[in-house]
Amino acid sequence: MKTELIKGDITKIPADAIVNAANSSLLGGGGVDGAIHRAGGKQILEECIQIRNRQGKCNTGEAVVTSAGNLPAKYVIHTVGPVWNGEENKCSKLLEDCYKNSLQLAEGLGVKTIAFPNVSTGIYKFPKELAGKIAVETVRNFQSENIEKVIFVCFDDENEKIYKKLLD
Ligand code: ADP
Repeated sequence: MKTELIKGDITKIPADAIVNAANSSLLGGGGVDGAIHRAGGKQILEECIQIRNRQGKCNTGEAVVTSAGNLPAKYVIHTVGPVWNGEENKCSKLLEDCYKNSLQLAEGLGVKTIAFPNVSTGIYKFPKELAGKIAVETVRNFQSENIEKVIFVCFDDENEKIYKKLLD
């Protein structure tokens, strides 16, 4: 899989799938979650509600998929990142699960390009450097038949700098 860094708004990326840093309620929130629901329209929320009715909340580290409503992507993969609480090993494993489970879901859908935000590094306060390292390593270790390109979408300057270094 090729990797690429884009600075900007993930809702504008025409990848087959974009990943949302959701919360376990799946009912929307702030940050990238709010941006995706605002730009994608109510279709995404309706599908999230159907998922909740079927299987309940989405646990941390897991991922579910909806269509992408008005977005240029085909799918939105909603994954729930860990809230940083200082337990490095536990939080790191859960963040790794987010990337792995999202890639696994994308692989099953035949996705060729997938864009990730910097999961957990906003409201959930995961240290950005460590989160970037986990994201890039997990993507590099993932064996894929379908996925050709993974785009890391950085919204803030600090993450952009971190990913530039990691992807060099
Ligand atoms: P979390 O609760 O998982 O921390 P946030 O949405 O607060 O989720 O932050 C995750 C990352 O998404 C942060 O690095 C933040 O800068 C970034 N972000 C916020 N809005 C957007 C957007 N529209 N596109 C891409 N990334 C975004």
